[in-house]
Amino acid sequence: MKIKRLISVILTIMLAFSALTMFGGCGDRTAVLKIYNWGEYIADGSYDSVDVISAFEEWYEEKTGEPIRVEYSMFDTNETMYTQIANKRADYDVICPSDYTVQKLIRNDLLLPINDENFDTIWADTFEDEDPTAYGLGEDEEITLHNIMNQGLLDLITVYDSGWVNGGSIYSVPFMWGTVGLLYDKAKIEAIGGDNAVDDMQTWDTLFEEDYAGYKYMKNSVRDAYAIANIYHYSGELSRLSNGFTEFGKEYKELLSQCMNYPNEETIASAEQTLKNQKKYLYAYESDEGKEDLKNGKSQAAMALVWSCDAGYVIGMEENLDLWYSVPKEGTNVWVDNWCIPKYAGNKKAAQYFISFVNTYEMAYENMYWVGSATPVRQAAEDIAYEITNPRSLLEYEYLEAYAEEEGEEYVEEHYDEIIAEADADWKEMVESEDEALSDYVYFLEKYLESHEDCTDEEDCSCEWHAYARMYSEALNPTDEQLERAAIMTDFAEKNTDVVRMFTRVKAG
Ligand SMILES: [Zn+2]
Repeated sequence: MKIKRLISVILTIMLAFSALTMFGGCGDRTAVLKIYNWGEYIADGSYDSVDVISAFEEWYEEKTGEPIRVEYSMFDTNETMYTQIANKRADYDVICPSDYTVQKLIRNDLLLPINDENFDTIWADTFEDEDPTAYGLGEDEEITLHNIMNQGLLDLITVYDSGWVNGGSIYSVPFMWGTVGLLYDKAKIEAIGGDNAVDDMQTWDTLFEEDYAGYKYMKNSVRDAYAIANIYHYSGELSRLSNGFTEFGKEYKELLSQCMNYPNEETIASAEQTLKNQKKYLYAYESDEGKEDLKNGKSQAAMALVWSCDAGYVIGMEENLDLWYSVPKEGTNVWVDNWCIPKYAGNKKAAQYFISFVNTYEMAYENMYWVGSATPVRQAAEDIAYEITNPRSLLEYEYLEAYAEEEGEEYVEEHYDEIIAEADADWKEMVESEDEALSDYVYFLEKYLESHEDCTDEEDCSCEWHAYARMYSEALNPTDEQLERAAIMTDFAEKNTDVVRMFTRVKAG
């Protein structure tokens, strides 16, 4: 279980799909599902994952008795995708816009409600054989779209009206989500900031003030720059409203949302001033290369403003075990990418089946495992987070499975403790002999073996490896504590041009 991705794999898929597109375009539209998604954003069978698209094709035919062929295309920005849908009325059934773009699509009447009169039947059909306990529900509880999702995320989406529901209609279903924070090289920042360095990474002050001058990457992204600059600018007031960032009530959350959303003359001016002042302390602005540079140590930069998915991605590469991710105390932006059905979709039924299918436990698990950011399906995300900090549980699970297959479920129930003890003894032996097979289970194996002497092997262990593994699992799956001090950014609508112009002035000045 490794969350890693390879460009070559993606290129192969792109070539394969462009060939399909060339010969597509004719035949029965009900036999085709057209998906338009971000690149590297669905499990494709590599790294022992399930190929979700092929699995869907097979499953759909089993469920409905009708064959389906998926045509899969990719985009690289919300804006590219939006233009296709809005201006070209492109023929897609499922798209995956981010939060603010969902709002823009709704505002311009470009989406179909997902939960029409057929959806309940399709959802029930999808989940009829699923075990509610796998979703953290009671044995007899009904599995619904609402009760399997991360509640903290749903609360944020609902409060800030980010397109989840609009007048009772559901226009978007979350697919992947995460936070915005600081990615930093611990060895490098400690060389600069000494003993306080790690604490310095827990506040946005560090990104905007003179300390660490020349070692900071700033994201070349207008929306993130605007939001984080304002959180920093209003941090005194945010601190007062949260009792020094300890109690995050309604007033704090309202101001946090104001900092990120509803730009006006005052907030645009404060962001501009903050960003202009910050420039002299930066190593550079970066669009995508910052995380790679930090991983390779090829630039002077020691920290960068990043999305948690990018932090999870480079940390998960296991090439630089000095990379850490923090979500500064003042607050963060939660980003959410969502499935939607565009207005001009030609196969709404298959789209609804697909959206239901990717929310099944197995598909949610596979996609999170492969993509490297959080699935909203709460239990799948929690299980992955647990496995990262408890790799031994994976071996235990394998033994239980093997015995169940060979001896039957009843045997496993009777001999549960013995099987676990056997797995644990074998695990211990593998650790002591530094068995190479451990790398199939353990992230950051080198650190794990080094920390072995201090490790209690329990989830709350304070050894160096556990601290690191916990940080990684929290980068992948945001904690409830992080969500307490988070808001979702909305579409800037008619104010967008003013914010974009402000950022252009900052960068040019
Ligand atoms: Zn430990």
